[in-house]
Parts: sequence; C-alpha cells; structure tokens
Amino acid sequence: MADEEEKQSGLLIPKVFYHSDTKTPMTNCIDCDYDLMLGDRYYMIEKVYKRYEALDSVQVLFEYAICNQCYDKMKEGLSVESMFTLSNYMLNNTDLEGMQKRIEENPRDAKKWLTHCMIKGTEVSDMNEFQIGACFKGNELVTDFMPPFVIGGAAMEEITELLSKETKDEMDGFMDDHFGIPPELRKDLILI
Ligand SMILES: [Zn+2]
Repeated sequence: MADEEEKQSGLLIPKVFYHSDTKTPMTNCIDCDYDLMLGDRYYMIEKVYKRYEALDSVQVLFEYAICNQCYDKMKEGLSVESMFTLSNYMLNNTDLEGMQKRIEENPRDAKKWLTHCMIKGTEVSDMNEFQIGACFKGNELVTDFMPPFVIGGAAMEEITELLSKETKDEMDGFMDDHFGIPPELRKDLILI
C-alpha cells in the first residue's frame, strides 16, 4: 500500500525536461507566459533532439512548455479529421506494454522510461531525431493522462504523412510564431 502510494505521487520534474540552456525548470507557458510554477494548471513539455554524428553529440533543436489552456486552444485549431487520424494512429501503434514495463522496472526514475520510441521501439541511441514529451503540474510530473514518452524520427514521419494540410499549416504557424522556424523545418515537430 505504502509502495503503491509512493509510486503514484511526488515525482519531481526530471532534469531531462529542464531547459537545456539554463538547466532549470521551464517556468512559463510559451504561448500566454502563464507562471506554471503556481501549480494550478497542467502543462506539457516537448523537446526535439537531433544527433550530429560528426560532432558526436545530441542537441536540443527546440523545447517549450505549454499550459493546458493554450494546448487545448491549439488542438481546437487542428482539423477534426487530423485529430481523429492522429489519435487512431497512437492507439493502434503505441507500444504500451513496453512503456509499462520500463516504468515498472524503474518507478522512481523517469529518465529510464525514455529509452525507446514509444511507437517503433527503437532505442534512442539508434535514432538521429526524436522528441520527448510529458505532462506536469507545478514542479511535479503527472502520469495520469500520458506517461513521459519518446517518439523517433521514423514515427514522426509516418504521423506527418497522416495529417491534413490545414493541420500542417496550423503547426507551421505555431512553430513560426514561437520559434521563427520556417515550414520546411517544421517536420521535426509533431504536436502530440
Ligand atoms: Zn498558456
């Protein structure tokens, strides 16, 4: 019982979700600048990585935190068809068993849950591009809706192909507004 309770609560933001420059938690929503540390709104963090073989390093291409209100607003802007296709794809392709197993093996170490693509099962060390994401509230990790996840480049490409043109345009707009990233690079990010 005590074990069970401990497992369910109190995991702080894993350092892997800290801002890569400041090495501190991301404190504000990228869209409305809401103070996420107030702890009264759920928020999502996504980070996109790229491996540079020549430099022998993995670098963060972009990273952001978005509050649930802005996240919902953004999702409302996506086409119903794309949302349906996307959730269907996730439902049918996510390796839930693998995710579950990694969590059970290291219930207190969320970094160890992020070792494989949740769709393809590919190891992070074998991928040139991948993104990670998770849900938080205040300074705590929230796993009720979705545990922290990794999506690799191959799965990202598959998902992009499934999205409608208007959804891609919407995502392009988001990236351009917040990062000044041109549409041709937007393929690196899927907003889950
Ligand atoms: Zn916001």
